[in-house]
Amino acid sequence: MRTPGRKEAGALSLEVHRADFQKALLTWYRHQARALPWRESPSLYSTVVSEFMLQQTQVKTVLPYFARWIAELPDFAELARAPAARVLKLWEGLGYYARARNLHRLAQAVQERGSPPRTAQDWREMPGVGPYTAAAIASIAFGEPVACVDGNVVRILARLTADGTEFRDGATAAKAFSPVAGRLVPAHNPGDHNQAMMELGATVCLRRAPHCPSCPVRGHCAAARTGNPEAYPRLAQKEVILQELTRAWCERSGSLLLHRVPSGARRLADLHELPTAAQAGIRPQALETGRLLAKHVRGIARHRITESIRVFAAPGGRPRPGLCWVPLDQIEAITLSGPHRRWVREILSASRAGQAPSA
Ligand code: SF4
Repeated sequence: MRTPGRKEAGALSLEVHRADFQKALLTWYRHQARALPWRESPSLYSTVVSEFMLQQTQVKTVLPYFARWIAELPDFAELARAPAARVLKLWEGLGYYARARNLHRLAQAVQERGSPPRTAQDWREMPGVGPYTAAAIASIAFGEPVACVDGNVVRILARLTADGTEFRDGATAAKAFSPVAGRLVPAHNPGDHNQAMMELGATVCLRRAPHCPSCPVRGHCAAARTGNPEAYPRLAQKEVILQELTRAWCERSGSLLLHRVPSGARRLADLHELPTAAQAGIRPQALETGRLLAKHVRGIARHRITESIRVFAAPGGRPRPGLCWVPLDQIEAITLSGPHRRWVREILSASRAGQAPSA
C-alpha cells in the first residue's frame, strides 16, 4: 500500500480532526474577531457591499468608504437609482473601479428580479461576482455551507497541510485547495467559519512573520511543526516589468489639463488623470525640458512604474481628443483616480504654499 506524502498526510490529518479544528477556529473568532460594521449590523446589503470593497483591499482602507457608502446609499433600491457618476465618486480612491460599476449593476439586477439570489451558484450569475464573493455572500447571508477560497485561505491551508507544491499563480492555488476548504466548512454557521478563516489570515497567519504562538489552530498545523511556515504556499515568481512614464502638468487661465479615460476602457473608465506627455502632445525630445514637479513609483500587477510629473506650456487651441480643461476650483468635484487625486492635491497645496513638492 502507498504511504501518503507529507502534503496528503497533512490534509488527511486536518480532515480527520475536522470537528476539533472547526471548534478551535470558531471559539477564537467569537472572542477575538475585530468589531467591523458589516459584522456588527449584518444584512445582505452590507455583506455584498463589504465583500465588493474588500476584494484586493485591506479592511482599514475600506472602513471609511463603507461608512460613507452606507450613509449615502443604504440599500439596493437607493444604489440602483443612483447616477453612475455619484457611484463612481463615492468609490474614488478605493481603486479597481470595475467593482463600483458591477456593484451598481448588481443592485439594478436585484431590483429587476424582485428578490436577491440565495445560492452561491445563482450569485455567480450576478455582475462582478466570482466564486469567492458568491461563496462569501451565500454562506454569510443564507447559511449555505460553501467555502470561500482567496489568498488568505490558500495561505492557511498550504501551511496547515505543509503543501510544498509550486503553483503557477494564486488562482491555480485557490482551485487546488478548494476541495479541502470545502470539506472543512461545517453545515452549521458556515458564514462564521468562512469569516473566521478570513480573520485568521488577516490578523494571525500573516504572509510574513505569522503569529504562530497565538494561533488557535496551531495544533493542527504541519508547517508550524517544520519551523518555517513562511515557506508556504509556494507561488512561481513573476518577472517584474519596469516602466517609465512622464505626465504633463499644464495650467491655463486657472484650469488644469486632464485626461478623461474613455467609457469603454477596461480600467479606470470615466475617471480623470493627469495626461501622459504623449496624450498632451509633448514630443519625446521635449520631455526633459519640463520642470520636474514630482516623481512617484507604484506597482500595478507585474509593472513597476516610475511616473515623473513635469510642467509644460499649455497647448493652444481646442484640447486634443480625450483631454479637457478643468477649473482648479472644480477639481474636487470631478472623479480622479486615487493616486492622481493625491498627486494633484500635493502639487496644488505646495504651489499655494509657494514651495515645489519634493520629487
Ligand atoms: S500555526 Fe502559524 S502557520 Fe500555522 S496556521 Fe497558525 S499562524 Fe498559520
